Amino acid sequence: MTPPANPPGLSALGDVPCLSGTALLTNPLLNKGTAFTERERDALGLRGLLPPRVFTLEEQVERSLNAVRRKPDPLEKYIYLVNLQNRNETLFYRLVMDHIEEFVPIIYTPTVGQACLEYGAIFRRPRGLFISLRERGRIAEILRHWSTPNVRLIVVTDGERILGLGDLGATGMGIPVGKLSLYTACAGVHPGYCLPVTIDVGTDNPALHTGTAYIGLREKRLRGPEYDAFIEEFIAAVKTVFPRALLQWEDFGNTNAFRLLRRYQSQLPSFNDDIQGTAATALAGLLAALRLTRGKLQDQRVLFLGAGEAGTGIADLFVAAARSEGLSESEARRRCWFVDSKGLVMKNRGDRLAEHKEPYAHDHPFIPTLTEAVKALKPTALIGVSGTPATFTREVIEMMASFNERPVIFALSNPTSKAECTAEAAYTWSEGRAIFASGSPFPPVEFKGRRHVPGQGNNIYIFPGVGLGALACEAREVTDAMFLAAARTLASMVEEQDLAIGRVYPALTRIRDVSARIAAAVARMAHDEGLATLPRPADIEADIRSRMFDPVYREYV
Ligand code: NAD
Repeated sequence: MTPPANPPGLSALGDVPCLSGTALLTNPLLNKGTAFTERERDALGLRGLLPPRVFTLEEQVERSLNAVRRKPDPLEKYIYLVNLQNRNETLFYRLVMDHIEEFVPIIYTPTVGQACLEYGAIFRRPRGLFISLRERGRIAEILRHWSTPNVRLIVVTDGERILGLGDLGATGMGIPVGKLSLYTACAGVHPGYCLPVTIDVGTDNPALHTGTAYIGLREKRLRGPEYDAFIEEFIAAVKTVFPRALLQWEDFGNTNAFRLLRRYQSQLPSFNDDIQGTAATALAGLLAALRLTRGKLQDQRVLFLGAGEAGTGIADLFVAAARSEGLSESEARRRCWFVDSKGLVMKNRGDRLAEHKEPYAHDHPFIPTLTEAVKALKPTALIGVSGTPATFTREVIEMMASFNERPVIFALSNPTSKAECTAEAAYTWSEGRAIFASGSPFPPVEFKGRRHVPGQGNNIYIFPGVGLGALACEAREVTDAMFLAAARTLASMVEEQDLAIGRVYPALTRIRDVSARIAAAVARMAHDEGLATLPRPADIEADIRSRMFDPVYREYV
């Protein structure tokens, strides 16, 4: 079997750096800082530019760990880590990977949310490409400004709906940067393949128009056909300049996210993590929860609070899973119910329902509130994706616990301050019976002598593995069947000891293993669906594992 060209685990940059001196020290992909050996210091013009002692990577990790732990708060830690990443990516990834549970909440949610809010103020050095309306007609040229020619993975946002925080315009850049860091740390996609992009079409956040530190265009957000034409130009440029790239849509507003996904899904390998990644993550949590309740997927009644990208994405994948277990499409859809900001989503509600909600508008009398909907529908699972905190009230949770032995309660809204309820509330008000998961991490809870460990339904379990799998086989498209395969694989990796403490996701320390298994399932599905463009290796999983990037220093001379 011919090995694929430029597999995801290999550097796009070749084995020997062509840089020397200060240029080498300021290239984060090649820089080793104080770990350059005596020979390298002589051969690469580094003498005098570094202090004399040579450190090992392990010693550097230790030193950085001490430094970051001395920082007084998460945002300061974030700033330290971003600076480290800009200086020395090998060291950054070694540090993050060796202490994944400690640093994921810093480089991603919840701290990244705060970092985006303060991005203008903490901005030191650009990372990623900013493509603004000023560059209309020149996007291909701008893409060619990127430092590495071999981009294989793009995460792009237009900043309209950053986490649960709303329109943050160009300061949304923290999200593509953070997501791509997770691709490398969690799934071993080489950082040299990754390109974060922020499309700046203005912002409708008035505070940013007047804020002195705001880094983006201070004008109203472009909408309508002109917006579509700008995105069309961007996609055409991506296909020309980086023809092998996989693209992830990230944190686009509701009105654009579904349309863009549908329009471009079959034009280039692409997916929307907020819709499809969230769906697979939540479905995996639900499948694992069913191992505790001993229920069947097709017997569940799921009530969602929030009918946006996350909620309807989860329901769509739930429907696909239930259909594969024998339900008809309409039977499967009737298992999913939605309450949005106007009340129960139902037929003839009187407002014009967005297209993505229509399949879940059932024939039912109107119900104005979540509490009444829970009372009337008696769901087996309650999934919060509304971005509105404290909506899973004591009454709601007590009611869920009154008709379910083990009520499934997922409060997925991010960041922590937006969660529909806290872990403590879910366990306490359900007398310790809730199977709880959240979007942002909550610490374990002691209730009546038992320790409950909340699962974090973090998309980090899914998107890095899906992306790696699609890259490894160079899939032409990323399909729902691949996400379903990813969800099933993730659920199967939750161990009995996780379930025993109520955790419906594997420990984050296993993330590389999880990503490798998911990548293999995705690549297998791509081959089965005829969408892989590379030959099928004899052992797909072994092939993928052998190609994952591992942050270690290579000898340059
Ligand atoms: P969205 O803006 O597309 O949708 C939000 C929905 O919530 C809308 O339908 C809105 O009408 C509804 N809503 C708002 N306030 C409400 C209220 N008080 N009562 C009922 N409904 C209300 O956003 P989204 O992409 O669907 O994300 C929603 C939340 O889910 C965010 O906080 C996001 O951080 C979180 N999320 C979590 C994960 C995860 O944990 N893995 C993944 C993606 C999104």
